[in-house]
Amino acid sequence: MAEKKLILTFSPEQVNTSITFRLARDFDVDVNILRAEVNERGGKLILALKGAGEEIDKAIAFLEENKVQVGEVARFVVRDEERCTDCSMCISICPVRAYRLDRESWKVVFEQERCIACGLCVDACPAMALKCGDNTTQMV
Ligand code: SF4
Ligand code: SF4
Repeated sequence: MAEKKLILTFSPEQVNTSITFRLARDFDVDVNILRAEVNERGGKLILALKGAGEEIDKAIAFLEENKVQVGEVARFVVRDEERCTDCSMCISICPVRAYRLDRESWKVVFEQERCIACGLCVDACPAMALKCGDNTTQMV
């Protein structure tokens, strides 16, 4: 069983279509919506797809065929290790505890797989050690 967290970007015309519903109905994957935002510029959806690797690939291909922009949350936040001062600000701000303090090394550890791409840590980091990855965009 594999899992991928994706950021889907919808154009305003696509926001009210049944693309997400068809994802759950037509593909053998579990769809878990983690976050959704819609405004006049379109919509963004963070979701986790769980299932066999080839089923996830088919579901992604379906989205792309329907002109939905697909990015992986796994690369949403990129940390510059040299800039990071282990100040712990990101620990207190992250809503899903993707950061933690390692009590042996006193270093802040980043667990990408927990991230739901809210962007809060990127703005909060005083050392500007965090940035959004190249293949993703901030939520609308
Ligand atoms: S807020 Fe920035 S500098 Fe502070 S621990 Fe987190 S990544 Fe490092
Ligand atoms: S983007 Fe949000 S969820 Fe992801 S690590 Fe930063 S604060 Fe946590």
